[in-house]
Amino acid sequence: MKHLALLFAITASISQSFAQTHAQSASQSSMTQPPAKIQAGIATTLPADQAIAPLLYLASDRLKGRYIGRPEIDTAAQYIADQFQSAGARTIPGANGYFQPFTLSFVRQSPTGTITIGSRTFSIGATALQFDAENIQLNAPVVCIGDDSAAQLAGLELKGKFVLIDAGSGTRASAHKDMSKVRQLRQVLQAKQALGLLINLNTDDDYWTALQSAMSGEHRVEPDKATAIPMIALRYHAGDQPLLAKGATGNASVTITATPIRELKLKNVMAFVQGTDPNLRGQYIVLSAHYDHLGVAAQPQMEEGKLDSIYNGARDNALGSTAVIDAAKYFARYPPKRSVMFVTYSAEEEGLLGSEYYAAHPIIPLAHTVYNLNIDNASYNDTTLISLVGLNRTSEDSNIINACKAYGLSVNGDPTGGSLFFESDNAPLALKGIPAPTYSLGMRSFDSTIFNRYHRLSDETGNMDMHYAVKFIRAYILSALYIANDATQPMWTKGDAYEPTWKALFNPGK
Ligand SMILES: [Zn+2]
Repeated sequence: MKHLALLFAITASISQSFAQTHAQSASQSSMTQPPAKIQAGIATTLPADQAIAPLLYLASDRLKGRYIGRPEIDTAAQYIADQFQSAGARTIPGANGYFQPFTLSFVRQSPTGTITIGSRTFSIGATALQFDAENIQLNAPVVCIGDDSAAQLAGLELKGKFVLIDAGSGTRASAHKDMSKVRQLRQVLQAKQALGLLINLNTDDDYWTALQSAMSGEHRVEPDKATAIPMIALRYHAGDQPLLAKGATGNASVTITATPIRELKLKNVMAFVQGTDPNLRGQYIVLSAHYDHLGVAAQPQMEEGKLDSIYNGARDNALGSTAVIDAAKYFARYPPKRSVMFVTYSAEEEGLLGSEYYAAHPIIPLAHTVYNLNIDNASYNDTTLISLVGLNRTSEDSNIINACKAYGLSVNGDPTGGSLFFESDNAPLALKGIPAPTYSLGMRSFDSTIFNRYHRLSDETGNMDMHYAVKFIRAYILSALYIANDATQPMWTKGDAYEPTWKALFNPGK
C-alpha cells in the first residue's frame, strides 16, 4: 500500500464507525460444486507450508525489502516468474516472457538555464522552475493567452510558438489551484504543436519556496515526457510589470542545458491460465498484487525491542504476491470457465507506477478484462475478517462473501469509509471502467494497531498469524474461482461512479 501519511491524519478519528459486516444472500453465488469439494482441491494443491513458502522467501532479509532502487527487486521478479512457470501458468502473448518491462526516468533541474522575455531574464532554480529536464536552445515568438481557459485557444495559431499564461492571483491557494490545471493545458498545447508552456506564476513566497524545494532534488519525469512539450514556471511578484499583455506576442529566448537522466528499469511479472468455457474464455479475471516494498532504512532503528533496518513488507505485500502465485498454482491445475491473468506489479509504493503503466499499456485488451481482484495490505487487527476495499461497489460481493464464509471469515468494507480505494493497484484499472476492488487483511478499525505495522520495520513474517495467512490465501482463491465461473459478467453496482465508463468499455454504442 502506498504512503498514507496524510490519509492517516484525516481518517484516524473516524475509523471506528465503519467496521461493519455484510450479510448477503448465499443464494446469489454461482458455485456449482459444494465448497467442501473445491476447498479440498485447494488444500491438496496448496498444503499450508507450501502455500506460505513464497511469503517466507519474499519477506526474507535476503530480498532486502524489494526496493525498486536495489538489485534484489529483480531477484524477486525472477522468483515470481519461476513460480508462475513451474505452476504451469503460461506467458501472455505480447509480454516479454513472464515480464512487462518499463522504465522510470529521474532528472534534476538544469542549474544554469535562463529564460528571457523582453527585458526580463529568469534563472532556473531561482526565479524559474523547469518541470522536466531537456536541452532547449530556442529563440521564438511567445504569445500571451492570459489565464488558461482552453476556450481562448480555439482559432489561435500556436505552432512553433511559446505560450505564456497568467496563473495565480498572488495567493498560495490561487496558485495551487491554477497549477493543478496546467497539465491538461500542456496536452492541449502539445496537440497544437506549441514549443512550450511558460507559466507566469503570481504567488506568495511560501508557495514558491515549496515548489522550489519540491523541484530541487531528483524527481521523476512524467511517463508522457517523451512527447510532452517543455513546461516552465516563472516567478511573478504582485506589483511586477506584466511580462506581456493578454493577446500580445513578444519574443522568448530559452537556453537550458539538461542534466543527465537516470533511468531505472523495472518489471511487472505476469502469466495466465486459459479458461475452459469456449464462450467465456475470452473474458479475463485479473488477480493482482504489488511485489515491491520500501527497501532498507538509512539507519537501523529500534522497534519492538529489536534493532532492524530491513523493511521486509511481509503483509505489504509479500502476502499478496504469494496469494497471486498460489492462485496460479491452483488455477493451472483446475482452470475455471473464464481465463485468469496473474500479475505482480512493481513500484506500487512510489505511487502505483507499475499498475498505472499496465493500465496504460495493457497486454490483455481492457475490453476483455472483466474484473480485477487486487490484493494489498497495511496490517490486520481481526483474524476472523477480510476487508474488501470496494465492498458494495461491484456485482461480485456475494461471491467473495461466500468464499470467505467457507473459511470461517466474514467480510467488511474499507474501514476508512472509502479513502483506501485509490491507495492501491486496483485504482488504475478501476479508472478504466473495470470492476476492481482490493482484498485485504482484516481491519476491524483503522487505528494504531494498523499504523504500528504499516510501513514499519516490524512488518515481518515472525509476528504474523500463519493460520490466518493460509485462510486469507485460500479464501482469495475460492473468491476468484466463483467470480471466474459466474454466469454473469461482473459489473459495477448500478449508479456507481464508474458505471458509465464500464458501459463505454464493454457496450460501445449503447
Ligand atoms: Zn505499502
